Amino acid sequence: MSQYVCPECGYRYDEAVGDAHMGFAAGTPWVDLPEDFVCPDCAISYKEDFTLSK
Ligand SMILES: [Zn+2]
Repeated sequence: MSQYVCPECGYRYDEAVGDAHMGFAAGTPWVDLPEDFVCPDCAISYKEDFTLSK
């Protein structure tokens, strides 16, 4: 499982955890998030702006 990080605020989406507030269950892979996904913390960054965390 991978983690993706918002370049604006540092919000981290962890595929293993998902995001209950956004309605994504634990284990939801990044590719399954909608293309219009925006960062839930800053609402600035779109899905394509997120960077894969090593
Ligand atoms: Zn953000």
